[in-house]
Amino acid sequence: MLADGKALPDFAALAASVQSRIPAELVRQSPILSHPVFNRYHSETELMRYLRKLADKDLALDRTMIPLGSCTMKLNAASEMIPVTWAEFGALHPFAPPAQSAGYQQLTDELEAMLCAATGYDAISLQPNAGSQGEYAGLLAIRAYHQSRGEERRDICLIPSSAHGTNPATANMAGMRVVVTACDARGNVDIEDLRAKAIEHREHLAALMITYPSTHGVFEEGIREICGIIHDNGGQVYIDGANMNAMVGLCAPGKFGGDVSHLNLHKTFCIPHGGGGPGVGPIGVKSHLTPFLPGHAAMARKKGAVCAAPFGSASILPITWMYIRMMGGAGLKRASQLAILNANYISRRLEEHYPVLYTGSNGLVAHECILDLRPLKDSSGISVDDVAKRLIDFGFHAPTMSFPVAGTLMIEPTESESREELDRFCDAMIRIREEIRAVENGTLDKDDNPLKNAPHTAAEIVGEWTHPYSREQAVYPVASLIEGKYWPPVGRVDNVFGDRNLICACPSITDYA
Ligand SMILES: *Cc1c(COP(=O)(O)O)cnc(C)c1O
Repeated sequence: MLADGKALPDFAALAASVQSRIPAELVRQSPILSHPVFNRYHSETELMRYLRKLADKDLALDRTMIPLGSCTMKLNAASEMIPVTWAEFGALHPFAPPAQSAGYQQLTDELEAMLCAATGYDAISLQPNAGSQGEYAGLLAIRAYHQSRGEERRDICLIPSSAHGTNPATANMAGMRVVVTACDARGNVDIEDLRAKAIEHREHLAALMITYPSTHGVFEEGIREICGIIHDNGGQVYIDGANMNAMVGLCAPGKFGGDVSHLNLHKTFCIPHGGGGPGVGPIGVKSHLTPFLPGHAAMARKKGAVCAAPFGSASILPITWMYIRMMGGAGLKRASQLAILNANYISRRLEEHYPVLYTGSNGLVAHECILDLRPLKDSSGISVDDVAKRLIDFGFHAPTMSFPVAGTLMIEPTESESREELDRFCDAMIRIREEIRAVENGTLDKDDNPLKNAPHTAAEIVGEWTHPYSREQAVYPVASLIEGKYWPPVGRVDNVFGDRNLICACPSITDYA
């Protein structure tokens, strides 16, 4: 009845009657998705349970704060994410002609204007696909600017020793020579060393790459003076904007001396980035650098593309647009204030248990703080690895380990975490410090203790128990865990062995023969 009594079309004949327009040499010959996992689940129920099983192994933002310093693991709100699922945003081809992408044009224009307002820059390129690619685009703009003024000899890039590793890597890729400048005991740029090197290289000085607030988690008080020194010696200032989460609405790199910066929309501006991508690393520039922003064969300016598509990862830009529009100027400012407040709350609650490595002259940190665990390693043999693994027993994702300083933990709570979650985290860290103290004074064995053996799996707990501490202490170190416990799927792995011995979960290679 539904087909109104009409006969079904003959699909086979229909298929035979049309000719493929795909050239024969481009038709795939090899099999695809041949791993058994792609052909194992044949009902939605089975697939759902498979996905659930994977999720259960994961220690993700739906269970715990992810306090990774330098990563800004904030909430990716559902309302920000939903438009990405709409075909109007998700199904447009990156090279669709402008006449068919007028709506996207409006979105990118508005986003560029909002990011200009947030950064104090005059123009934005949304093309770079990551912060590091933004650094590259920014340094290329600086090089092209110097060339345009007949100063192509300028190829020295000053980088403070506190910098993120991508900075020197990018400077190398952009064909610049890196000169590292020193930091003082407080973790700040050593301004006199910077001045001396800027003057020494004044004929060849191309740029300074500096992160504000610094990768040491401190607002560098000399930032204006530092920018001035570089400009006085003919260089351009690249302010790495990865730490914008401490600045939006409070201060702007384009206002205190930067010529160009990248932003990490996947940090500060809510694009999810667990698992490594996709990212968006737009750059903002002052007007004198605007002519040197990345172009693209599909744009008015043809030259200087840094990635395949004119607007990079355009399909995820609605996330940032939604975030900024829903927060508004006042909301964004409040988010920055809360991010800084949260970091300082953690820093103050933990400083008597673990020294905070760097603070500003007022004793405060920016949006993240570094805990120094090196003295504990000497007094107890407990390492940052042990603490990071033990946090899993408490149901927490580890902070950033040994970056930017070996033997330390860097914690960034972001504005998304509540006071309760911050306290839960601090309580776990304080409990762990008590366990370390028990190792220090011999109450716990130096080698066979809950820290060295962490994380503890369920299988281990029900098996034969030979450790000198109790099963309860292993898996329920705080009572609140009895109500909700994350069970790690694997115990301690040998990190270094794992890094050096690649193990593949694929079927063995002989199965492919
Ligand atoms: C994250 C980060 C980068 C690199 O950004 P990606 O998007 O990971 O390439 C650069 N500098 C700093 C300070 C960062 O924190």
